Amino acid sequence: MRPFQYIRPKTVKEAVDAIASDPDAQFIAGGTNLIDLMKRGIVSPGKLVDITHLPLKKIEDKSGFLRIGALALNAEVAVNKLVLQKHPLLAMALNAGASGQIRNMATVGGNILQKTRCTYFYDASFPCNKRSPGSGCSALEGINRTHAIFGVSAPNNARSCMAVNPSDMNVALVAMDATVVVLGPGGERRIHFADFHRLPGERPELETNLERGELILGVEIPESAFTKHVHYLKVRDRASYAFALVSVAAALEIEDNKITAVRLAMGGVAHKPWRLYEAEKLLVGQHVSDGIFLDAAKVAMRSAVASEHNAYKLKLAPNAIMQALKAAAGI
Ligand code: SF4
Repeated sequence: MRPFQYIRPKTVKEAVDAIASDPDAQFIAGGTNLIDLMKRGIVSPGKLVDITHLPLKKIEDKSGFLRIGALALNAEVAVNKLVLQKHPLLAMALNAGASGQIRNMATVGGNILQKTRCTYFYDASFPCNKRSPGSGCSALEGINRTHAIFGVSAPNNARSCMAVNPSDMNVALVAMDATVVVLGPGGERRIHFADFHRLPGERPELETNLERGELILGVEIPESAFTKHVHYLKVRDRASYAFALVSVAAALEIEDNKITAVRLAMGGVAHKPWRLYEAEKLLVGQHVSDGIFLDAAKVAMRSAVASEHNAYKLKLAPNAIMQALKAAAGI
């Protein structure tokens, strides 16, 4: 591992300034992803700016939204009374992620920013456009069982990437229309969660639209009535400590057996948490039934494209959508 300098700024502003003044510096909080990346030489910052002690841990009920500080731990958020009462879908997704030990260390901000788990990205002996743009994508002709079926770069693109975003929490947050609050050298700004992560396109090395030097302060989740009919379904290779092959966040508002509002998103299928807007549109105003859930699943899968080893996701994903919707509706 490359030697690095370690500093602990006293304020949020000092932390942002420390990054802005040194292009070789990087924030560190829980370190559950960054340390692995540093040990493998995938990233090698010359300076780590430790933010763990900064006052960004609060979970607060504000007017019209719940605000969760970027340094709140995943394990704390998952059992927080306000979260359980107002946004149980988020608690379900958090509890599905990683392992108990990791949830005790990992922060909300770090979870939003965690890197893909594409095995080729973590193995520097393989070409990888995300790690080294222009070197090629080893997954295209390699083992791509866990890779994306939506929003993949064109295969003939010299900078292709078909990696997926690994976070469960991100799937719930995009479904709940959350907003990410960030602070950079230019001041504070808010980014809608659906616009925060990027598709790979020609720049697979960029996973988010965060500007250099910007620090996530927290997320804001608008009030909603999605408290009763919600479900997070995660399909994975083992019961714990495994990333989603496919996951679905489903939230419904139901009156007299009629769906009045829907939020639906998937994980494990794209470079960003994948919101299913067309399926949502189809469901609103319909009566709860297996048939309408099946129609929604079909609509959701329209633009899916499989590769050699992940064609199973074309069956698994619609089945998971159906199952999550049925569980949310209680049928
Ligand atoms: Fe790298 Fe993306 Fe290809 Fe994986 S899928 S090898 S992360 S370019």
